[in-house]
Amino acid sequence: MKLIFIGPPGAGKGTIATPICEKLGIPHISTGDLFRKAIKNKTTLGQKVQVIIELGDLVPDALTVALVKERLQDDDTNKGYILDGFPRTIGQADSLSDFSKIDAVINFTISDEQVVERLSGRRLCTNCGTGYHTETMKPQQEGICDKCGKQLIIRPDDSPVSIKNRLEVYYDQTEPLIEYYKNKNLLKDVDGSGTVAEVIANTKAMIETI
Ligand code: ADP
Ligand code: ZN
Repeated sequence: MKLIFIGPPGAGKGTIATPICEKLGIPHISTGDLFRKAIKNKTTLGQKVQVIIELGDLVPDALTVALVKERLQDDDTNKGYILDGFPRTIGQADSLSDFSKIDAVINFTISDEQVVERLSGRRLCTNCGTGYHTETMKPQQEGICDKCGKQLIIRPDDSPVSIKNRLEVYYDQTEPLIEYYKNKNLLKDVDGSGTVAEVIANTKAMIETI
């Protein structure tokens, strides 16, 4: 099963993709995670994208498409995958259609108020990438990852200014993809406003209909 998860920043795409990928036995491919790993490892790509990402702007299509194209050549993608955070522009979607045939696009719907609430309380493990929230998904020990014991951080792009910019970029560049995939009969809406357990259940039910 080849799926795209789409939705505004903070819609929960990564949180929902993790357990669903485990259940389906397919990889979770998050361009945001791939970029953050490159930044952490100070690779050439990481150095190119660091400032762009901290400001909440989009990495140029050519760089992003090349990264995904390469990742999709790995053997673990044979049974399928979930793409989380890609494509984010019409240009990226057009490129993707040249090298992959997607089964469905899950669109997580959520209000702007909720986006801000979620992103401003978000915490992230620097080591394993697990996400937490100061109100709704607290770690057992404040500031420490339940899974690996390493420190949690606030993502640099979760600052109020960057959050506002990311929302603007989303409406400007990414939201047009909803119409794009609707026209291809691939779009499935899932209400992203509930609890994590509710959204996971709704997503699983939706995937069963594909
Ligand atoms: P979120 O969904 O919370 O906004 P992500 O972790 O998916 O965050 O992405 C973080 C940042 O990485 C984006 O704000 C953007 O700068 C960059 N990025 C991720 N995916 C793409 C993409 N497909 N095209 C361009 N930039 C991207
Ligand atoms: Zn961790």
